[in-house]
Amino acid sequence: MNAVHPPLAVAERSTQDWQAADAAHFLHPFTDFQALARKGSRIITRGDNIYVWDSDGHKILDAMSGLWCVNVGYGQPALIEAATRQMSELPFYNSFFQTTTPPAIELAELLAELTPPQFRHVFFSGSGSEGNDTVVRMVRRYWDLLGQPERQVIISRRNAYHGSTLAGASLGGMSAMHAQGGLPIPGIVHIEQPFWWQLGRGRSREEFGLEAAGWLEQKILEVGAERVAAFIGEPVQGAGGVIIPPETYWPEVQRICDRYDVLLVSDEVICGFGRTGHWFGCERFGSRPDLMTFAKGVSSGYVPLGGVMVGERVARVLIEQGGEFEHGYTYSGHPVACAVAVANLRLMRQLGLVERVREETGPHLAKLYERLKEHPLVGDAETCGLMGALQLVKDKASATPFPEEQQVGMLCRAHCFASGLIMRAVGDRMIVAPPLVITLEQIDDMGRLITHCLDQTWAELREKAWW
Ligand SMILES: *Cc1c(COP(=O)(O)O)cnc(C)c1O
Repeated sequence: MNAVHPPLAVAERSTQDWQAADAAHFLHPFTDFQALARKGSRIITRGDNIYVWDSDGHKILDAMSGLWCVNVGYGQPALIEAATRQMSELPFYNSFFQTTTPPAIELAELLAELTPPQFRHVFFSGSGSEGNDTVVRMVRRYWDLLGQPERQVIISRRNAYHGSTLAGASLGGMSAMHAQGGLPIPGIVHIEQPFWWQLGRGRSREEFGLEAAGWLEQKILEVGAERVAAFIGEPVQGAGGVIIPPETYWPEVQRICDRYDVLLVSDEVICGFGRTGHWFGCERFGSRPDLMTFAKGVSSGYVPLGGVMVGERVARVLIEQGGEFEHGYTYSGHPVACAVAVANLRLMRQLGLVERVREETGPHLAKLYERLKEHPLVGDAETCGLMGALQLVKDKASATPFPEEQQVGMLCRAHCFASGLIMRAVGDRMIVAPPLVITLEQIDDMGRLITHCLDQTWAELREKAWW
């Protein structure tokens, strides 16, 4: 930027101008920098309710809630006012050195109330990735304090997403991430994911769920139970493609963790705060975790905030036997973030959003997805609360996938953007997670857009003779 000229206001800069400056200076996350520079970024300038607008004025239905986080929708005055008020009162103070601030205490108190009864304590971070770094530090510390320092290994799953820091990416099961930078870090091992469509067809979902949980037991025995500190999983894998486990999976995982005295960590960064129609995904799927990572929906993404709920089993040891825990972040308990989160959670309660997802909007989305199953491109359609996945296939009857190099998911995603819909592609799995404030009528609108985009994709495939 040329410092001589003051920067122009948003409205005065053209899309091309934004794109040029972006390409010149901004390295985006999870991005092929060169490919994006050639194409130019989409610049999002405004949001309201479930819609965002780009710099050319196009209105887009944001069926991904930003990045799984804007659960109360854009432009909620209660959150904006909470931020503004706290900014002028006290924009920052830390929680190191035996101090803290009222919003951090209030949020801790509220989280203890909203989370399952084993949780009475919270450790704050600035993001989900940092929360999972805290998890690694905490579970290893816990076993150390109990005189079992050899319990260091954490078991996770392939195609899991637990963030992008060294620990987060190591816990995650994304091979492309592991390939860059020598990951995973030592002491983290993976088992296969409970993805019925890919791995379990031919068996009932229930049978497959037990089988997939059994892989955990096998791994524990292989590593040696006396060396296993914890198992971590998302109740529903989000970034991996909305992989909804069979109903039998989590209760069996719980049984196995209990049997071998392994700590259970539920990564609730996406599933937490109403996404599944319950406050937390573990409540929906019947597990009783010792630790829960959260972020995203806790503040509806208005400001960065994350953390770890610490169950009494672990908290008592850390508190009573631990001495100083040598870990924390400058922004642990950031007062503005915490004030916004308190306002967000109160608003969710006031609107009865979690109940609405469970009883109205979630079932409505499920019905829509039953209908979408009929589409020639759709091999499987599943929902859980307000998350949905469409598996695009070349042949329905045999569940034959498209060749990977055709990138059919990306073709479909391009039709979505062009039609004013944000739907994400994970391979050929098209996923949505709209804001929890979405209405029944808006779900119908979204359904019409999805159908239109599937039709367009199908037409393009036939044109290319790929169908
Ligand atoms: C997004 C996500 C994270 C990482 O959170 P960040 O705030 O991006 O660091 C961790 N776990 C899950 C399940 C996520 O979806």
